Amino acid sequence: MKTIIEPFRIKSIEPIRMLSRQEREERLACAHYNLFGLHSEDVLIDLLTDSGTGAMSAAQWAAVMRGDESYAGSPSFYRFEKAVKNLMPFKHVIPTHQGRAAEAILFSIFGGSGKNIPNNTHFDTTRGNIEASGAVGHDLVIAEGLDPSNEHPFKGNMDLYRLDKYLEQYGKTVPCVMITITNNAGGGQPVSLANIRGTAALARKYGKPFVIDGCRFAENAWFIKEREQGQQDRSIPDIVRDCFVEADVMTMSAKKDAFGNIGGWLALNDDDLAEQARNQLIRSEGFPTYGGLAGRDLEALAQGLSEIVDEDYLRYRIRTNSYIVERLSKLGVPVVKPAGGHAVFVDARSWLSHIPPLEYPGQSLAVALYEEGGIRGCEIGTVMFGRQPDGTEIPGSMDLVRLAFPRRTYTQSHADYVVEVFEELSKVKKRLGGYKITKEPRLMRHFTCEFEKL
Ligand SMILES: *Cc1c(COP(=O)(O)O)cnc(C)c1O
Repeated sequence: MKTIIEPFRIKSIEPIRMLSRQEREERLACAHYNLFGLHSEDVLIDLLTDSGTGAMSAAQWAAVMRGDESYAGSPSFYRFEKAVKNLMPFKHVIPTHQGRAAEAILFSIFGGSGKNIPNNTHFDTTRGNIEASGAVGHDLVIAEGLDPSNEHPFKGNMDLYRLDKYLEQYGKTVPCVMITITNNAGGGQPVSLANIRGTAALARKYGKPFVIDGCRFAENAWFIKEREQGQQDRSIPDIVRDCFVEADVMTMSAKKDAFGNIGGWLALNDDDLAEQARNQLIRSEGFPTYGGLAGRDLEALAQGLSEIVDEDYLRYRIRTNSYIVERLSKLGVPVVKPAGGHAVFVDARSWLSHIPPLEYPGQSLAVALYEEGGIRGCEIGTVMFGRQPDGTEIPGSMDLVRLAFPRRTYTQSHADYVVEVFEELSKVKKRLGGYKITKEPRLMRHFTCEFEKL
């Protein structure tokens, strides 16, 4: 069969509704043009994030009922731990309420002023936690990863040459080497198994722990299976294990590739580090057999981990994005190619080239998508990354709008509708203007800052 279908049928639905254009304009003005400030009921198709927004399966909901809420030693924890270790062979698995909580714990140990932490591209909460500790994060993705039209199959790869130089230069100030799979902030692009191994080898050469931010490990494994030489006949769980056997530590947001609505974990091999992490966990999250989660959440994640590695699911998941990328390309909308795993990234800086980066072309496009079609996307560019620790501002390396697809939530006709909204916008894009920020917090400003139309 040629058509790749949604490999599920729908058992329970949520209605969505369309406001008038005028209503949408009013709502967004009230939210100071920050899409995070909207009420989600006023959004028709919500592509703000794929984080925690997916649909759970019937089997996950059934598992929820099995959740055991014992404070210590719940069987739900042991099922969760077993499901994680089945894919990621770490000695210690520490549940947290989200990925960022795992990061906060990790950088309370590894961070601190004077420290330097490399990654292919730090995700915003990762960078936020690093900077809050006083450390500095650096992005060392390969050059192809910064070129939106370059069709390199693994654009999330670490630049191993630069990493080697970096580790030599920064020496003792580097507490760990990180890699993010897939590279969310760099377009949801995958990292090859060879590159994971190469990065791990460099970390070992310089005696540094190797940390994988594994939020989209299953999507990354699918790309490895599809694109990396010699991986075609291997199972997704085997590829996943090969990735994580290289690592000393992993951080995870279970709101991504564990089909959870909430959850995360920190996993590691070193006993001393694990003890420090658990002490911190008890202070900030909870007892080590529940972290920041309820027993029922742990059950949902354990079941989710068995579903996320399903090849029919991953084929459909990755195809949704490549389908939209193909159609947007035909319309002349510049998109990051090849399509990312969880999202379509539109290159707003080049599509709205009349808007300079410091007037936030990505924000302008994100606003227009909502005003025109009720679609909520997310700027990933100068708004998100432009503010420097000293309060000055420089353009982000790209100005993208991310249309992130919740897992198992929208169908093909929703995808067709998104393409149609772009079709309408291409007729009026010259009239779209820039924005200025009128109010912002010191860190991670994109969540709460306020804008004015210029
Ligand atoms: C979502 C995400 C995080 C943070 O996880 P939360 O569960 O949202 O706290 C960290 N890294 C990457 C790559 C992510 O996508």
